[in-house]
Amino acid sequence: MKIHEYQARDLLAQHGVPVPRGRVAATPAEARAIAAELGGRVVVKAQIHAGGRGKGRLVARDDTAAMFQRLVADPANNSGQVKGDRIGGVRLADSPAEAEAAAAAILGKHLVSIQTGPEGKLVKHVLVAEQTDVAKEYYLAIIIDGAAATPLIMASSEGGQEIEVVAHNNPDAIVRVNVNPGAGLQPYVGRRLAAQLGFKDDQAAQFGKLVEALYRAFEASDASMVEVNPLVVTTDGRVIALDAKVNVDDNALFRQKELASLRDKDEEDPLEVMAGELGVANFIKLDGNIGCVVNGAGLAMATMDTIKLAGGEPANFLDIGTVNDPQRVVNALKVIIEDPSVKAILVNIFGGMARVDIIAQGVIDASKQLDLKVPVVMRLVGTNLAEGEKLLEESGLQVIRARELADAARKAVEAANTAA
Ligand code: GDP
Ligand code: MN
Repeated sequence: MKIHEYQARDLLAQHGVPVPRGRVAATPAEARAIAAELGGRVVVKAQIHAGGRGKGRLVARDDTAAMFQRLVADPANNSGQVKGDRIGGVRLADSPAEAEAAAAAILGKHLVSIQTGPEGKLVKHVLVAEQTDVAKEYYLAIIIDGAAATPLIMASSEGGQEIEVVAHNNPDAIVRVNVNPGAGLQPYVGRRLAAQLGFKDDQAAQFGKLVEALYRAFEASDASMVEVNPLVVTTDGRVIALDAKVNVDDNALFRQKELASLRDKDEEDPLEVMAGELGVANFIKLDGNIGCVVNGAGLAMATMDTIKLAGGEPANFLDIGTVNDPQRVVNALKVIIEDPSVKAILVNIFGGMARVDIIAQGVIDASKQLDLKVPVVMRLVGTNLAEGEKLLEESGLQVIRARELADAARKAVEAANTAA
């Protein structure tokens, strides 16, 4: 789960990471009042669940796709700035009046960045924070290193740009250290990182402390990533976090009640929100036109690959899990047909603990309860196959049957192309 920057920075600050003073605003008048409180020189930052805001651009809803194309085609000439004529989603303001104007220009608009996709994101809040005079920008993050099964600290003296770009152009500029989660972060790690990044004396000490505070925040919030980009040295020698991103592991939300309450469903895909509400876990919306109902994450991946191999595009990833309740199948289909781009549905079930007859019953129930306008291709094997076949036959339901996955994928692509 993602949270907004203004929430992430408060979380980091609670654990001792220095951040500029600031507060969130929903209206230009609020932004003006906060700017006055902070002494007038502030930065006004669009709050959306995507990065690249500084280099993004604000447009009306109807212009997001065209702007996204421009950004992708010619980022150097179309990206935004913090000040000047090509202004983006992060703006410097030198007075409360300028802060109000900046907020008015950002709020209610769509921010398009390389990371938002062609739909952009509607901005409902801005963070108004003390302006920082930046001497140098760095990158610092902690993520879970799945292969090593430990947290991994990544840092770079090439801050302020996306780490993927640094990894591509200048991989040696990134330093990495794995942390044994049992032993926790040892103080030498921060000192060593500081030295590798070229920090000296008091700043090395400040950086070391910041790394420790960031690790405490990471651990305490069950985060899958915390990222500070940029971490900066100010012109008066302080080391502070100028941006903050925190992703919380969804599997920990049951014990992270306070963080769970920060969830902003407006920022999430509406189909994924609907899936969650209907108890259809592991649903991820994609851009194609073939809806997929599959049991098992591996089989779901293989199904998507096979659809692509057959020349089609999956409309979603869905691992329906071990289903022993037909209503779960109905709910999955309900979510899938909510997507207007879906032109065919492929049900691919390998019944192990999940029973084929229950899946078949679910599809039959769905055909009665829902308005299933698109063709359904079913490939069923495994436990209680004969019972499932019998149910389908008796129901008289019109489905396209396939025995093998490759055949099922071809039939689904054909059905989708015929319907499209
Ligand atoms: P992002 O583009 O979504 O990652 O948003 P950031 O919070 O990282 O802001 C983008 C860029 O704006 C940063 O890399 C900084 O260069 C710049 N920036 C943000 N806040 C300040 C500030 O207080 N003072 C100055 N001079 N630059 C800032
Ligand atoms: Mn940033």
